[in-house]
Amino acid sequence: MPPQEPLVSVSGVQKTYFTRQSPIQAVASASVDVARGEFVSLLGPSGCGKSTLLMMIAGLEKPTAGSISLHGSAVVNPRRDIGIIFQDATLLPWKSTLENVLFPIQILKLPMEKYRERARELIAMVGLTGFEHKKPAELSGGMRQRVAICRALIHDPDILLMDEPFSALDAITRDQMNVALSEILETYKKTVIFVTHSIREAAFLSDRVVVMGGRPSTIILDMKMPFPRPRRFEIEETQEFAQVCRQLRLTIEAAHGHPPALVKSSTASPASGSAVIE
Ligand code: ADP
Ligand code: MG
Repeated sequence: MPPQEPLVSVSGVQKTYFTRQSPIQAVASASVDVARGEFVSLLGPSGCGKSTLLMMIAGLEKPTAGSISLHGSAVVNPRRDIGIIFQDATLLPWKSTLENVLFPIQILKLPMEKYRERARELIAMVGLTGFEHKKPAELSGGMRQRVAICRALIHDPDILLMDEPFSALDAITRDQMNVALSEILETYKKTVIFVTHSIREAAFLSDRVVVMGGRPSTIILDMKMPFPRPRRFEIEETQEFAQVCRQLRLTIEAAHGHPPALVKSSTASPASGSAVIE
């Protein structure tokens, strides 16, 4: 593969779900390239097709039109060179931290002994040394999501796909997880595609933020984040950070109309026309 070729290439992708009622056009059109080592966020309000696009990149959903390639070859099935992290940690409750982290090795039938040390190293990296033999029920939400990150990294995939991995956590833990993820990626360099509906989270973590929105949904902005790395909380206090967040917010509001402050009901559904963003 020539070095300039993107690691992930999404080209003219559309997705329509054919349900028993009317067809739902989840993604009208999306084209985006992700270079090796890049951290790209897909940002947009609930229902704009972020998860759908991520699942197509993972090979877990098929595009209705267009094509997706990884390493220059078309994605047609789920692949081993991808690690996926979802909103819920989805750990096996009867298995310990160490066993959960090693679970993909069991599934992929890789040599367990070879990966045990890597598992311990990853567990140490996320600050869970001493918790190797605890069950998920004995861990906090943030700790469980750290275990899920270790599990996604254990077989050393090139690409990490993360779907709102910290949305279920409280705000303080979420901030801590953002810094922890940045630190992990400084050590274990990966290409990351990260789905979020939090503007601040996208701006803090990403090299590029790709905004999805409109009806039907397309990519409405692809913006480089100008902040130097390593990133720590302090960048969020800068004027530059505020300006970037403002531009992202205005882009989303321009596509969806109502700013969140005007959304009366917290249960407003995406179909009601409100942009549910943070
Ligand atoms: P997001 O992740 O941005 O919240 P999704 O990709 O989950 O958005 O959903 C985009 C649209 O597609 C929504 O209208 C959603 O209801 C619809 N959708 C998602 N998955 C399915 C499915 N399996 N079957 C039918 N419709 C779906
Ligand atoms: Mg989603």
